[in-house]
Amino acid sequence: MHELSITQDILNIALQEAKNAHACKINKISIVVGQASGIVPDSVQFCFDEMKKGSIANEASLDFTIVPTQVKCRRCQHVSSPKDIIWMCDKCGSGEVDIIAGRELYLNSIEAEQEEAYENRSS
Ligand SMILES: [Zn+2]
Repeated sequence: MHELSITQDILNIALQEAKNAHACKINKISIVVGQASGIVPDSVQFCFDEMKKGSIANEASLDFTIVPTQVKCRRCQHVSSPKDIIWMCDKCGSGEVDIIAGRELYLNSIEAEQEEAYENRSS
């Protein structure tokens, strides 16, 4: 399963970032997923819910930003936004297109609680 290793990577990066920031708890992890990346958000969510157990991301939620697929026609240079997985030009119907958006897959941001918050409380 493709999503398994990807989710592991995302979680590892998030945990590392949180560690660097001296965070004690991760509240939210935002990731950007392109429609053409082949990644199914539901599968990532499922893997994440299993993997986060026992880590400081145990109560973290996943936030997906979906980037629509965009293809550019090699014949007429027209840019289309196909709604399904059949990639072709809206204008001339050519199937000779290049994907210019929608292959994104990266960790956008994390929301975490700092350890300092607890220190401040006692002072
Ligand atoms: Zn075209």
